[in-house]
Amino acid sequence: MAAAGSCGLDAETKAIVADKMEHNPSCKSEGHDKHLCSLMYDGFHYSHREEYKAMVRDAEFLCQNCGRTAKGANSLCEPLKL
Ligand SMILES: [Zn+2]
Ligand SMILES: [Zn+2]
Repeated sequence: MAAAGSCGLDAETKAIVADKMEHNPSCKSEGHDKHLCSLMYDGFHYSHREEYKAMVRDAEFLCQNCGRTAKGANSLCEPLKL
């Protein structure tokens, strides 16, 4: 019984992988889609490299959830002023 090619992930497999890589599901903030946790999960740091760098440059806040740092508290789920 040959397994279908493992190199090309089908939609179902991708959904399972994405589910396992869930980014801080405990964050219920409305702005979560703008949090670094969520943005980086979407590959924001690759697709918007300069914007990402601007967000983390001269960081003033630390995320108590994932340990990432950012300039603005609104970029993090659990910001802690540095
Ligand atoms: Zn969040
Ligand atoms: Zn975080």
